[in-house]
Amino acid sequence: MSRTHDILKTHPEANPAKEALLAWEEEYDQLRETVSELHGKNEALQDQLAGLEQKLSAAKETPEGYVAGQGALWLVGADGRVEKLAYCPTCKLVMTPFPSDYPVALVCTACKHKAPFAYQDLEETWAGVNSTL
Ligand SMILES: [Zn+2]
Repeated sequence: MSRTHDILKTHPEANPAKEALLAWEEEYDQLRETVSELHGKNEALQDQLAGLEQKLSAAKETPEGYVAGQGALWLVGADGRVEKLAYCPTCKLVMTPFPSDYPVALVCTACKHKAPFAYQDLEETWAGVNSTL
């Protein structure tokens, strides 16, 4: 028995509005179901957002002894110049030439991040980062 039927039982004077009340009840139940679905989706999205914010924050942190530039991290040597090796900004690992036989890009083997500059431009990019120090 629906809530509308319960109400009509105790308030028979509302019977002329029975069809409208039943339609509203059905609409109300559908809206409750939709709200419940959206609540679940919102929770999942909030969890996903928190994870992405954490990753982004970790990626933005420049570790001690490195400088960030041109979409990579560069290790600063004792002489104050950066080494000619690009490090992944997320994993902090040296990015490797890819493909190995005729490299066109620098790629992180851990997370597959690709440097925003071509392998052929490593020398020029490295010189550019050095000139900003
Ligand atoms: Zn990486």
